[in-house]
Amino acid sequence: MSSTSKDETVLHGIAASPGVASGPAFIFLKKDLEIPSYQVSRCKREEEVARFEQALLETRKEISAIRAEVEERLGEDESRIFDAHQLVLEDRALIEETINEVDQTGFNIEYCFHQVASRYIEAFSNIDDEYLRERVNDIRDVSRRLLHKLMGRSDFAISDFADQKVIVSDDLSPSDTANLDRNKVLAIVTDQGSRTSHSVIMARSIQVPAVVGLHDLTRTIEYDQIVLVDGYEGLVILNPSEDTLHRYGRIQVERRKIQHLFEKEAGLPAETRDGAQLKLFINVEGFEDADELTRAGCEGVGLFRTEGIFLRDDRFPDEEEQFEAYRRIVSLFPDHPVIIRTLDLGGDKASSNSPFESDETNPFMGFRAIRFCLKHPDIFKMQLRAILRAGACGRVKVMFPMISGIEEFLTARDLLEECKQELEREGCAYDPDIAVGSMIEIPSAAYVADHLAEQCDFFSIGTNDLIQYMLAVDRVNDRIAHLYEPNHPAVLRTIQHVIDAGHKRKIPVGICGEMAGDPVYAALLFGMGANEISLTPAVAPEIKYAIRHMTMAEARNLAANVLRSCRASDTADLLRDFYRDVLAVELRPN
Ligand code: PEP
Ligand code: MG
Repeated sequence: MSSTSKDETVLHGIAASPGVASGPAFIFLKKDLEIPSYQVSRCKREEEVARFEQALLETRKEISAIRAEVEERLGEDESRIFDAHQLVLEDRALIEETINEVDQTGFNIEYCFHQVASRYIEAFSNIDDEYLRERVNDIRDVSRRLLHKLMGRSDFAISDFADQKVIVSDDLSPSDTANLDRNKVLAIVTDQGSRTSHSVIMARSIQVPAVVGLHDLTRTIEYDQIVLVDGYEGLVILNPSEDTLHRYGRIQVERRKIQHLFEKEAGLPAETRDGAQLKLFINVEGFEDADELTRAGCEGVGLFRTEGIFLRDDRFPDEEEQFEAYRRIVSLFPDHPVIIRTLDLGGDKASSNSPFESDETNPFMGFRAIRFCLKHPDIFKMQLRAILRAGACGRVKVMFPMISGIEEFLTARDLLEECKQELEREGCAYDPDIAVGSMIEIPSAAYVADHLAEQCDFFSIGTNDLIQYMLAVDRVNDRIAHLYEPNHPAVLRTIQHVIDAGHKRKIPVGICGEMAGDPVYAALLFGMGANEISLTPAVAPEIKYAIRHMTMAEARNLAANVLRSCRASDTADLLRDFYRDVLAVELRPN
């Protein structure tokens, strides 16, 4: 494929967040560049040096432009960092050493510059002077920018991002996605990722179309190249023709009509045709605006992912800051439950500037969520206290993520009890009767759900993780995304087992993974007996529409048939037929 040609090129990825958008590409690379190394004949060495001089010149211009923009946007102080960058580019020692390196080793200029810059970075890192140590970041930033220039690639920070572009990245972290301004981003496309990676969940929550798993698009795409992103079908079209743009224009009109149909019923109860009142909750990432959350027409919050407020900064929020964040959400739902999940850092939820460092070979099986919290009771208790205090302002419930068995749950609950006693002694308002739940997302917890149900007030099944651990399919690995199969009979039987175990002890069982936000599964999960499902606000009208056009009898019948299937493909057929026959509506627009 040559994406640099002007021919239209259609690429297939994973449909991650619905919607269609087109516009110029903004390339945002996270990984280090692969630096080419090759020998250059003696007569070509001057050309290498000329390329270097040219790249230095262009990089200086680029930095001046960014400095001016930052000064205008954020002020003189913030823009000074770029003066330090210019100084690095003007450093004669660095420039001359690089040119000498070409002469002496005969290697290409990119390789030589990278070698020299790396030596500088190492030397500065070992100096016992904070100011000089900090210059390492300047050298790193500038050399990265210069290397991109030498290699004919663009390199930008997410903060350089200008208006109305399609972000094309090798990978985005949840905190990158959180930092994006949804009014500026047209769509997101990434080389890596899958439907349940957290950056994608975030993209869905801010309603930005996304396609992921494009493998190596960032190697070939050019800055400002026009891209059309079809988040329904998982297509990325480079240099879309007039015809294609026209066709997609029509698809968008159709889609808007269908969305209008859903939204007409969004304010009505989630009641089936035979009168069953079902509970729809929303998942909150913490970055959505209040309107959007309340407009979803749901009965409360089924999952407040608190990681977002922990990844925003280079320090963790204190108790007061957390209390404010939780209280804000609770105040939006004064008469409804709000389930706050304790910290689930780790896996793909880490950030390079956060105090939570994750440099593990297998982070999804590693030091994550409750494992981290139980090792850091000070951080954990600060959060529990803030949640308990928010409980005094509404109907808060608390739940623990990544519980693998009864001991972990009981240890976490003991710490909660300690916090209650402290707050009592301090005379602070809190909810002494807060409901305490366990997420069921590790197969071992599902297997001992009967024991856990004796200790918990509720269960919430996290299908995103449950599926990855049951099927041994890394949820963010695009190369095996086709093996991530919610229809696998083992997954569906396990969900049924957990629902039954919860109901035997008369505790409610909710589902909060992405499966719950897919209209194809909502009917099935309710048919299996789930008491509530929790989903991203944007899909709530569509799910409600589905519920209002089915009967519980039909949903139970569907569940019974599905649980008898021994193949995932049979289940997929049953679900598709259900939507066609029962709802008599084509939920997918194209
Ligand atoms: C899940 O695992 O299904 C879940 C809801 O939690 P998260 O996606 O945050 O891991
Ligand atoms: Mg999970």
